[in-house]
Amino acid sequence: MQMVILDGSAAEGGGQIPRTALSLSMVTGQPFRVKNIRASRAKPGLLKQHVAVIESAMRLCSAGVDGVSLGSSQFTFFPGDVIAGQYDFTFSAAIPISLILQTMLPVLSLAKGVSEVTIEGGIGNRNAPPIEFLTKTYLPQIVKMSPTVTLQAASVGLLPIGTGRFKTTIAPGVRFRPITLVDRGVPIQRKAMTSVTNLTGHQASQEVKDLERTLGLANLSMKNGSGNVLLEMNYEGITEVFTGFAKQGLSSEEVTADAARQAKRYMTSRAAVCEFLADQLLVPMALAGSGRFTTTKISAHAKANMETIRAFLPVDFGIDQLPDGSWLVEVRQA
Ligand code: ATP
Repeated sequence: MQMVILDGSAAEGGGQIPRTALSLSMVTGQPFRVKNIRASRAKPGLLKQHVAVIESAMRLCSAGVDGVSLGSSQFTFFPGDVIAGQYDFTFSAAIPISLILQTMLPVLSLAKGVSEVTIEGGIGNRNAPPIEFLTKTYLPQIVKMSPTVTLQAASVGLLPIGTGRFKTTIAPGVRFRPITLVDRGVPIQRKAMTSVTNLTGHQASQEVKDLERTLGLANLSMKNGSGNVLLEMNYEGITEVFTGFAKQGLSSEEVTADAARQAKRYMTSRAAVCEFLADQLLVPMALAGSGRFTTTKISAHAKANMETIRAFLPVDFGIDQLPDGSWLVEVRQA
């Protein structure tokens, strides 16, 4: 098969370009080379989390690789046959479980046989879907397209701090089904949580007060977890989770304000899908061959993902701005 050549600095040029390429290379059997990986980032090239996902992909399909090392600006991936089965991956808290799972999921959903994948790793990492987003926002939409995926938490937020252990069972389907996600439906419930592992009790209760004031929400709770602030909004058609990531040097007010800002943007829009879920729906929808959703924002990240998908699959993406300022994205056959 012809080698797909990708420019890792295209659009916003993040780590999603290699991750999407890995998934689609394993699904289609096409080898690829990606150059200029994360070229414009402060720390360019492959980081630990990217090497971890490449090595995980190598295990799924006995791939051949060239150029995979920390800091590498390019690598080549030659996929082998994907083998369904039992896999156990253990990573440090620095490696987000969600990004590893999102890379494997489309591949094992189309493999020949049932897979049971256990992954231990980070659950609340900055710039990655937190585990609550994965389980409440992302997976319910995936299950509509590929109904045989289940995720059970084995342990969450225990030691070491910031890690969790999850078991996923993936029974393959013949293909992904198209879905339409243009209407979020009526609101059902709003909940907020501060997860207190990295924050003092005082900071956490301050966050709770800030959230109550900013969003007019009651029944806020604290739980053990990654130290982040989470806002969950349930609508008839979708649950969205907005996260303020805790970080040294950021006050609890700043962390809370970040989650509240994202939630407010969503509440004042009519779109069904937040900016993060938008880029994460593109691969499964492209594998379904069609699909539609409305979103609050088309991020540079989503554009980079569309370019990468087009290099592997015969699909196109329609993007139209709607009168209320939100966006309609349509995935269709090229
Ligand atoms: P880089 O370091 O180059 O940015 P990366 O490998 O860390 O690369 P990105 O390419 O930025 O990762 O991709 C991060 C992924 O995490 C995206 O799919 C994005 O939608 C998702 N993500 C980031 N923040 C959130 C959030 N708050 N909630 C849900 N998903 C998130």
